[in-house]
Amino acid sequence: MADRPVALVTGAGRGIGWATSRELASHGYEVLVADIDLQTAAAQVAGRRFMSAIELDVRCDDSVVTAVSTALERFGRLDLLVNNAGIQRHGRLDQLTTEHWEAVLNVNLHGVIRCTRAAGLHMLQAGRGSIVNIVSVAAERGTPGRAPYAVAKAAVVALTRSSAVEWAPYGLRINAVGPGYVETDLLRSHIEAGELDLAPILDRTPMGRLAEPREIARAIRFLASPDASFITGQVLYVDGGFLVDYGVPAAGL
Ligand code: NDP
Repeated sequence: MADRPVALVTGAGRGIGWATSRELASHGYEVLVADIDLQTAAAQVAGRRFMSAIELDVRCDDSVVTAVSTALERFGRLDLLVNNAGIQRHGRLDQLTTEHWEAVLNVNLHGVIRCTRAAGLHMLQAGRGSIVNIVSVAAERGTPGRAPYAVAKAAVVALTRSSAVEWAPYGLRINAVGPGYVETDLLRSHIEAGELDLAPILDRTPMGRLAEPREIARAIRFLASPDASFITGQVLYVDGGFLVDYGVPAAGL
C-alpha cells in the first residue's frame, strides 16, 4: 500500500482540477489526474512526481468503476475523491431541449453520483475517506441562461449534505467547495462566445477580480485535510464576497 494518501481528481486535465492536482501532489498526496481527454492529462503530468494520468468519463459507469479500481490496484488505497468534472451549456429556459438538460445533468449531477458511489463503496470498507464536490455560486442564486447548470449544482449541494450525514458514522467526510468566477478555459470560452460578460462579473464581485484556480485548490485541500477533521456536509464558498454582497450599493459612500 502507498505511504502517501491517494487522491482521484475528476476533470483534472486543466482548470481547477489541474490546479487541485498540483496542490495535492505538493502537499503529500499521490494524485490520479483523471480526465475524459487522456492526452491532455498525460501531457500535464509528464515529468512530474506523485501524479499519474488516467482516462475517465464521468458519464459512463464502467469508466468510473475502472478509475477507482485503477487507484486501488496501483496504490492499494483511495483516500480522497474530488468531484470536479463539469460542463456548462447556455440557453433560454423556454428553448432548452431535453438533450440539453440531460447533457448537463449527466456530467454535473449523475457524474458526481457515479463517482461518489464507486469511491464510497471502497471508502466504507476502509472505514475512512473524504470527498470534496465542486459546486458553484449558481447553486444559491437564480441563474438566467444556465438553469440546468444551477439545478445540477444545487442538487450536488443536497447530495453533499445527505451523503455526509449517511456516511459520517463510517468515518467518511463529504464537503463541497463553491467557487465564484474563476479564470479557467471554461470561463474564458463563455466570455469569448459572448455568453458571459466580464465587466458585470467583476463589478458584482466585492473583491473586484476573478479567482485564480489555485485559490479554489487550497480550499479543496483544506476540506480534505485532517485540519478539517470535524467538518462534514458543509459548502465553503470561495467567491471573493459574491454571495454575501447585498447587491445594492448605498448612495454617497
Ligand atoms: P474546465 O472546462 O477548465 O475543466 C473541466 C475539465 O473537465 C476539462 O478537462 C474537461 O475535459 C473535463 N471533463 C468534461 N467532461 C468530462 C467528463 N464527462 N468526464 C471527465 N472529465 C470531463 O472547467 P473549470 O476548471 O472551470 O471547472 C471545474 C469545476 O468547477 C466544474 O465543476 C465547474 O462547474 C466548477 N466551477 C467553475 C467555475 C469557473 O468560473 N471556472 C465557477 C464555479 C464552479 P474537456 O476539456 O476535454 O471537455
